[in-house]
Amino acid sequence: MIVFPGDKVGSVEEFKVGNGVYEENGELFASVSGVLQIEDKKVNVVSFKKIPELKKGDVVVGRVVDVRNSFAMVEIARKKGEDRNLAHTGLALLHISNVGERVENIESAISYFDIVKARVIDTSPKISIKEPDMGVLKAYCGSCKIELVLEGGKLKCPNCGKEERRKVSRSYGKGEW
Ligand code: ZN
Repeated sequence: MIVFPGDKVGSVEEFKVGNGVYEENGELFASVSGVLQIEDKKVNVVSFKKIPELKKGDVVVGRVVDVRNSFAMVEIARKKGEDRNLAHTGLALLHISNVGERVENIESAISYFDIVKARVIDTSPKISIKEPDMGVLKAYCGSCKIELVLEGGKLKCPNCGKEERRKVSRSYGKGEW
């Protein structure tokens, strides 16, 4: 069976957590797109969309393409240290526990279409933006869709004046990462 990130694949009563799976409140969910496999009471999702260039510890940049209750999916485009886009692009999982301390609502930290800088924490791939330099590099006003500017620590829309919250990178708006 093919599953997608966020699909329920069982519960802790039934299975042990394998690769490509995460647990939340006793339930197990796929963290990657792939094929569901159950072996010795262990549930795995074997990713069919690994990004071969990525290894643990790499710094990457990508665009947020989906935001759910407890995670977001980021389409990875580039790896730090290389000037061109990756030959194999794919989705990485950003779980709320890897966004920052005391983040209860992922929508207060990132939003659809944001550009984020992140650390690869495993090659399934999962990413983290906890470090001060990781996080949103570019964000857009939810109403006007134009780029928000950072002013005195606050993100503000230069068009409508609306303020929005993000977990920003120290490199926000600097055009470099
Ligand atoms: Zn606006």
